[in-house]
Amino acid sequence: MTHDDRGLKGLNNPDYPIPEELQSTIAVTSLDRIYNWTRAKSMWPLLFGLACCAIEMIATAASRYDLSRFGMEVMRASPRQADLLIVSGTVTKKMIVPIVRIYNQMPEPKYVLAMGACASGGGPFKEGYNVVSGIDTFIPVDVYVPGCPPTPQALMHGFLTLQKKIESQSLRTVPWYRSGESEAIPVPILGPDIIDPRQADLIRRHAEQAAASRDTTTPAPTEA
Ligand code: SF4
Repeated sequence: MTHDDRGLKGLNNPDYPIPEELQSTIAVTSLDRIYNWTRAKSMWPLLFGLACCAIEMIATAASRYDLSRFGMEVMRASPRQADLLIVSGTVTKKMIVPIVRIYNQMPEPKYVLAMGACASGGGPFKEGYNVVSGIDTFIPVDVYVPGCPPTPQALMHGFLTLQKKIESQSLRTVPWYRSGESEAIPVPILGPDIIDPRQADLIRRHAEQAAASRDTTTPAPTEA
């Protein structure tokens, strides 16, 4: 019996059920390996260049660095044709709205790479009135590439890190093959500030508490 046979039969053997706490770390099977290999070696990135980091991303895609070695050279301009969203640059509150919308439009399996300090955590503009402190507050990020800006080599290291992550995934545990429809991320609402609809209850509670404390501290009007 080969190692792979053991893996497949062992996983389906009712006499030896896998403990629940180990379900997420089940061995990657032969089928997983084929599936992961094809997916990891032919990623189609969607470019989302927003600021200075985008220049390094463009340089990475040029002939000097030869991205086709990693199967990632087919950059797409449509979310429908892409499975990797590269967010490179400063993410303003106005721009997070289309980013979430585009992320929702990408078919699964899909991944996100945050390139540079700005996309990862706000960078030099963190706490700026118009800047989002990292895209991971709105969409899930798979790989962060540090730097301001990261070099093409650093970005390629991010690609290889993502490939390694994909190669360790199992069809049994990845979210996109579970039953039921996957839920889209609620698109943020841009008003005087950016509002995450998932935080609506929390925002309402804070507003009610603030209103209640205002009522108790405001002195009652005196009669003339
Ligand atoms: S991380 Fe640095 S180089 Fe990249 S977009 Fe922000 S300020 Fe520009």
